[in-house]
Amino acid sequence: MRAVRVTKAGGPEVLEVADLDDPTPGPGEVLVEVAAAGVNYIDTYQREGIYPMETPYVPGLEGTGRVTALGEGVTGVAIGDRIAWAETLGSYAQQVTVPWDKAVPVPDGVADDAAVGALLQGMTAHFLVNDCFPLAGTETVLVHAAAGGVGLLLTQLASAKGTRVIATTSSAEKAELARGAGAAEVIDYTRVDDLAATVRELTGGTGVDAVFDSVGRTTFDASLAALRKRGMLVLFGAASGPVPPVDPQRLNAGGSLYLTRPKLFDYVDTTESLRDRAAAVYAEVAAGRLDVRIGHRYPLEEAGTAHEDLQGRRTTGKLLLLPS
Ligand code: NDP
Repeated sequence: MRAVRVTKAGGPEVLEVADLDDPTPGPGEVLVEVAAAGVNYIDTYQREGIYPMETPYVPGLEGTGRVTALGEGVTGVAIGDRIAWAETLGSYAQQVTVPWDKAVPVPDGVADDAAVGALLQGMTAHFLVNDCFPLAGTETVLVHAAAGGVGLLLTQLASAKGTRVIATTSSAEKAELARGAGAAEVIDYTRVDDLAATVRELTGGTGVDAVFDSVGRTTFDASLAALRKRGMLVLFGAASGPVPPVDPQRLNAGGSLYLTRPKLFDYVDTTESLRDRAAAVYAEVAAGRLDVRIGHRYPLEEAGTAHEDLQGRRTTGKLLLLPS
């Protein structure tokens, strides 16, 4: 089979297509013909070695496809079933073996593109607004990178609850997408001198109840400064680089603030919680209440370009790799 392979950490050029042996499913695993693999920011952290990886490896944690073989002991799924997964390394490939307990069934009403586009990023948006900082609909929140993969879904889920979303993006085109997803206001954070002051102006001087910050290094200070008293900074990514160590006293000085650094897989840490959350997100998609925007589709050979585009801030919504 054809697959992307990484033999050493580095830039997008280390993503090379290779002919590899077809995988066979071990006990508890299913073999899948990959219809679409998801490109996620974490793939770039792994490729660069920020998250150390044993080489060689086939990147990509997420995908969807049809089951073509069952490993020993697998029950509850049949050959031909459509499934999706979000934490199985090796997904940038024509075939991958997926532990069945890490897979979710894909309902008929959800197309392949949306099955991937709504999974890792959709479950992330879902746990952030329902469990990490549960929104009642009365809040005002700040969402950074609101036209990104997670950002568009998070903005839709939050605004559908009635929460007022102030969004940040880096261009007029992205601002339009964020508005379409329900953002009440959009700030171009590459153009304002004082982001926190701008947010305070929009909230009558109070500040926001929560900030959903996936950008990290370049937004962290403004995110803290934009919070109301006892507000919460939900720092869930580092697209601009990791945040340096923080003195807890800053939380006190800022008004008894909260800071959390959550990750999805602590919120979907059992097969049941994974399938429940995926089913909840897929139900929104199937009902037409959650729009999954596919920003671009790339062939396997262009995995490096996909990473360059993602890190170069040239993308919106979800990026897919199509292996066949
Ligand atoms: P996005 O589609 O959101 O792409 C990243 C966006 O970040 C860019 O489009 C850009 O939007 C913005 N950005 C701001 N500054 C920079 C910079 N210096 N370099 C690059 N991008 C920048 O990616 P994803 O939806 O895949 O992921 C979003 C974030 O969510 C990532 O940080 C990821 O790690 C995190 N994440 C965390 C999870 C968790 O469990 N904690 C799970 C899933 C994702 P703009 O041009 O508008 O500024």
